[in-house]
Amino acid sequence: MHIRKTRLLTPGPTPLYPPALHAMMGSDIHHRTEDFRNIYRAALSDLQGLMGTSNDVLILVASGSGAMESAVSNLFSRGEKVIVCSAGKFGERWVEMAKAFGLDAVVLKAEYGQAVRPEQVAGALAANPETRGVFVQASETSTGVQHDVRSMGQAVARTDAIFVVDAITGLGAMPLDIDGWGLDVVVGGSQKAFMIPPGLAFLSISPKAWKRAESATLPHYYFDLKKEKKNAALGESSWTPNTSLVIALHAALGYIKSVGMDKLIENAQFLARATRSAAAELGLELFAPESPGSSVTAIKAPAGWDSGLIVKEFRNRFGAIIANGQGSMKGKIFRIAHLGYFDFADLAAVVAELELILAANGHPVRLGAGVAAVQRSYAGAAGLKLAAEGRA
Ligand SMILES: *Cc1c(COP(=O)(O)O)cnc(C)c1O
Repeated sequence: MHIRKTRLLTPGPTPLYPPALHAMMGSDIHHRTEDFRNIYRAALSDLQGLMGTSNDVLILVASGSGAMESAVSNLFSRGEKVIVCSAGKFGERWVEMAKAFGLDAVVLKAEYGQAVRPEQVAGALAANPETRGVFVQASETSTGVQHDVRSMGQAVARTDAIFVVDAITGLGAMPLDIDGWGLDVVVGGSQKAFMIPPGLAFLSISPKAWKRAESATLPHYYFDLKKEKKNAALGESSWTPNTSLVIALHAALGYIKSVGMDKLIENAQFLARATRSAAAELGLELFAPESPGSSVTAIKAPAGWDSGLIVKEFRNRFGAIIANGQGSMKGKIFRIAHLGYFDFADLAAVVAELELILAANGHPVRLGAGVAAVQRSYAGAAGLKLAAEGRA
């Protein structure tokens, strides 16, 4: 109890894949050499394969928001009408970006903890036939809600609008058929399910979206997707890339390939299910019970509690870094992530720690009840047949 390992358990940054970290030691490499081009090309093609798309995939040196901004500044013109689904802090980021670039945004707002429904998108598209784009989060990390981007994509595909999906915590946590569902732009980030530190953003871009880039007039310079595409074809990035992170990405993608993207998603789904059942056993309410995603589970603090106490106890007692709520949700919820390099043992430990934190602060729990729920979820997912419980 005097040794505490620091564990990064937030929905970004997420736990790091150690061999990817070690690979970063090989950063004494020049980015305009064939050695580096080979790594860059492999990373791009692995990303495209894991995202499961035939669309172009680009890497940008930025956090995820940079790639979000690049989609706005490269594919739209001032004054164009767009529909923005906003179900939390990241939806609000789309709204702010649209406003910053002078787009005319129709905002479909869902209460925190709820999702925007595909019918609302279809309705807004019908009411605004001049719409040029629809923006959404596949997974709204601030609330733990998941959007039905498949149905939304079908509605958008019937129009001239392009569908721009922030899948920064969707990739690797939920199935996304980019080509089949008409997801024209899909944005990802290195510090989520990709198991490496923050600093790289990715996006896939469909032919329908590229066509837009031909006529779009919003100003941009550093994030120039057409220029980036030309350079990517040569195995290079437009500007000096974050070589250490590209090397880490290449290593992590190799690991994800060996696991399988579908298995990585299944892993997150298992952790999310197990977390929900543990919360129920501990008498805790979910913040987003209706459309819970598998990237992160947001749990309400017991009535009258500041969730900051739980976050602080995790950190001070156990070295576990978990996420508080963002914005007005701060103090009300805490969030347990399921993204990337996160396993059964991580979750079992988090739930064991949570039980102690709850009990030590006056929320009655039966020690082990949440952990047992996680174990039963594991047994279910792994097809283990357990001997009858109740003895020993
Ligand atoms: C993490 C995250 C982002 C990107 O945030 P950055 O800090 O710019 O990396 C965007 N959208 C969602 C849904 C996220 O979870």
